[in-house]
Amino acid sequence: MEKKAFQAESKKLLDMMIHSIYTHKEIFLRELISNASDAIDKLYFQSLTDDSVGMNKDDFCIRIDVDKDARTISITDNGIGMTAEELEHNLGTIASSGSLQFKTDNKLGEDQQIIGQFGVGFYSAFMVAKRVTVYSKAFGQDEAYQWTSEGVEGYTIHKCDKATHGTQIVLELMEDSEEENYSEFLEQYRIQALVKKYSDYIRFPIQMEIGHQVLADGTEDEYETQYTLDTLNSMVPLWRKNRTELTDDDYNNFYQEKFVDYMPPMAYKHVHNEGMISYDALLYIPSKAPYDFYSRDYEKGLQLYTNGVLIMDKCGDLLPDYYSFVRGLVDSEDLSLNISREMLQHDRQLKLIAKSIEKTIHSQLTSMLKSDREKYEQFFEAFGLQLKYGVYSDYGMHKEALQDLLLFHSSRGDKPVTLAEYVENMPESQKEIYYATGSSIERIKSLPQTEAVLEKGYEILFFLDNVDEFAVKTMMSYQDKQFKSVSANDIDLDTEEEKKELDEKKEAGKAMFDVMCSALDGRVQRVTLSSRLKSHPVCLTSEGDLTLEMEKVLNAMPTENKVQAKLVMEINPKHPVFERLTALHGTDDEKLKKYSQLLYNQALLIEGMPVDDPVAFSNLICELM
Ligand code: ADP
Repeated sequence: MEKKAFQAESKKLLDMMIHSIYTHKEIFLRELISNASDAIDKLYFQSLTDDSVGMNKDDFCIRIDVDKDARTISITDNGIGMTAEELEHNLGTIASSGSLQFKTDNKLGEDQQIIGQFGVGFYSAFMVAKRVTVYSKAFGQDEAYQWTSEGVEGYTIHKCDKATHGTQIVLELMEDSEEENYSEFLEQYRIQALVKKYSDYIRFPIQMEIGHQVLADGTEDEYETQYTLDTLNSMVPLWRKNRTELTDDDYNNFYQEKFVDYMPPMAYKHVHNEGMISYDALLYIPSKAPYDFYSRDYEKGLQLYTNGVLIMDKCGDLLPDYYSFVRGLVDSEDLSLNISREMLQHDRQLKLIAKSIEKTIHSQLTSMLKSDREKYEQFFEAFGLQLKYGVYSDYGMHKEALQDLLLFHSSRGDKPVTLAEYVENMPESQKEIYYATGSSIERIKSLPQTEAVLEKGYEILFFLDNVDEFAVKTMMSYQDKQFKSVSANDIDLDTEEEKKELDEKKEAGKAMFDVMCSALDGRVQRVTLSSRLKSHPVCLTSEGDLTLEMEKVLNAMPTENKVQAKLVMEINPKHPVFERLTALHGTDDEKLKKYSQLLYNQALLIEGMPVDDPVAFSNLICELM
């Protein structure tokens, strides 16, 4: 029999499986059982609309057999089975497996954790087996085929005898070594425990011959082993059970098994909805963002069942983007079974369910914010960015729903605040909501523009994420209070008297400002004096809607059209530097110009922006020194 080679990727994965660390090995059983369950689902699904299948739900089962002498464990299902081509395609190449595809994208082998956290499918058999044989007969076909492999070397496929449709997978366990005890997978208690742990909610019975000790006939103290075919899993889906029957542990375990997360969820909600639309749902907020959450690869969605049959693994239409972190499932009797993906998008029933779920999540988050602030802060740390994008997206359509779920760091203290808390804290004299942007809290705190606002006793929101400023620009105002950047040119903090004094100074310095501005090659609109500065000599502010920070964010995007904020360079009239500038004006304008360039670059650096020409800047410093 000719041996065929695995695809390169498959080979790599197999290698990783074989050398995986011990604690992960046990999941092989979960993987093979869920494949068996999927295969049964497919045939069961078909049987619902196709009478010729001739099987009832009760006819389906998964069976586990163990042979201690031969050191084999086999998993048998009477599901849809595989043709020779399917064996070849599904088991010989990596491309067919969704989960494997996903792992190769993420630099296979880099992280052993991955095996524990995610399903790795059929190949996990090679973590415990030295030889794997798959006997399969596709439903409706006459021929059965056998696929055999001893790992990386390759595999063979040939015809075999098999009476019934379905698949049997036989694993010949590896020999025990000093570190590894594979034989324990031959023990019934171990298998029972593994099925309970990982596969309890599989909807079809997982059966195994279980030996029970019973008194031998006619004796009083002699025991013998009698075997019965037991069902190891409890089968009833958790979401169909009554809330009062279930504990936090039940919900958490279910989540961890079903969504393969090594951490319990942060919060969950079990919904039984009746009336206009009836559905059951389990909704979970994970404790941590999955590592690919903020990448393109992440796919949002809830599992969608109808009457306990899975019809879609990730139904994206059930979740708005800003709640894409929610995991869970929905089971509704009202949905038609043979609905297609395209039809589903237009399904009225589904839309109603999605609306109702969105409301549930919203009220869940709102109550977490009220009753368990610490937890909410953790939640926001993990997923807050998503909510902020939600405010910003779709032209602000969802801002009403989301604005009270936002948290921001602020100048008030270490704890983040809500917008409502900020407004509550505003002194009477304060009219606007102030914010400052920067890459870190430390950076923002050292911004010259914050000094005057803080001196007034006003709180400043710290915007650390790129999206923050865009989000509040979309909101425009909160409780009728406008958002105002501390770097905005028209910030107004002075008394009438102070204003007058400043205006006079501005008027007097006009000619000098023109000279300074001319030295800056159009990079600033104008140079002026500012009362917002206390200890710093200079800062940059922006006129109009576009701030320097937004310019930075927008220009980092891969578009042709670059934008430019309208900048104003503001000088502190109370700073000794101002005196020096005034002295130079009219006596040494060339030097005044150089000082202007120096100040401009200095202001850029304080803002956390790169200077336009570092070499020229450094030469200029040396020259002036
Ligand atoms: P995944 O389950 O993530 O797709 P696997 O490597 O576990 O990846 O399985 C690859 C494919 O092989 C499955 O998608 C399925 O089509 C097929 N398969 C595996 N086990 C069985 C089985 N017991 N019966 C029928 N088909 C199976």
